[in-house]
Amino acid sequence: MSEGRALGLVSGGLDSTLACRVLQDQGIEVIGVHFNTGFCLTDTRRQVGRRRESVQRLRSEALRAGSDLDVPVEIVDVSGEYLQIVTHPRWGYGKNANPCIDCRIMMLTKARGLMQELGARFIFTGEVLGQRPMTQYRGTMRQIEKASGLDGFLLRPLSAQRLPETEPEKRGWVDRSRLLGLSGRSRKPQFALAAQMGLTDFPQPAGGCCFLTDPSFGRKFFDFMRHLPPGKIVSLEDFVVLKVGRHLRLTDRLKVVLGRDEAENDFLENYTAGRWALRAAEVVGPLALVDPPASGGDLELAARAVARYCDGRDQASVTVRCEGDGETRMLTVAPFSAGETAQWVIK
Ligand code: SF4
Repeated sequence: MSEGRALGLVSGGLDSTLACRVLQDQGIEVIGVHFNTGFCLTDTRRQVGRRRESVQRLRSEALRAGSDLDVPVEIVDVSGEYLQIVTHPRWGYGKNANPCIDCRIMMLTKARGLMQELGARFIFTGEVLGQRPMTQYRGTMRQIEKASGLDGFLLRPLSAQRLPETEPEKRGWVDRSRLLGLSGRSRKPQFALAAQMGLTDFPQPAGGCCFLTDPSFGRKFFDFMRHLPPGKIVSLEDFVVLKVGRHLRLTDRLKVVLGRDEAENDFLENYTAGRWALRAAEVVGPLALVDPPASGGDLELAARAVARYCDGRDQASVTVRCEGDGETRMLTVAPFSAGETAQWVIK
């Protein structure tokens, strides 16, 4: 084991980057881990947005930060087991669909499991006391530390001087006087520190980031959860589809997801298996997905929504090709009006 190896949760955002640098400046060897929950904003942008976003914005921020800091970062996929966390969080949700307390406990518990394997003596994060609601209150930070089995071995270098002394400090592995005492929601001190350290390449305002804090995603998420058919086993794919497109809740059992541009249509094309896929047959328009079982009446409603968003929206009728359950149906329907669809859009 290295004299002072520490394992950090690295998102690639400014705070975790600064936390790495603060420890490196003390001569501590830093390694990093990044957990892929399946809800990472940049990962989804990478999948959906190749046509719309520059390569620069679509990189893995965790790996980019690791490379800039000369810190090896291991990416660990936890997306499968994360489903349980996101659908049944023991400690509930934040403002949106974000189960942050459960999420932090899970990540830190997993990081603890990696500590020995990676030869690290303690874990650190870029958390700042009082910066974010839910997980960065003093009491919650302590609760998370204990629940993840890291009692005393979880260091928050950016706020350490405002928190109880940890084992790495008590045992002299880390010099407490060279840690920081940041707190509060302002990020000005972090920006000042970044400038002082010559760090210029980090996502604004905070990198990594996850969909679960997005209000619009949250509304789609809770709509989906409220309308789960009895016995339905959720999959990551169910949530992936929530991340893109225009979502229309037409009835309790009928929701239509429509691509809003070519990139989203291409993305949704990957998720047609097991669903009905609808497209205007003779004019340009979105790809729409409908979950089964879909009755003839459901398909007709969905086809009218497709007609509303295709180039034939001003025509009296539009023919829509509906493919699913091993069959193809051609439905000629009247497009919905803008007013009709507006009431169903989950924004
Ligand atoms: S914002 Fe997302 S990744 Fe971060 S703690 Fe909350 S749920 Fe987890």
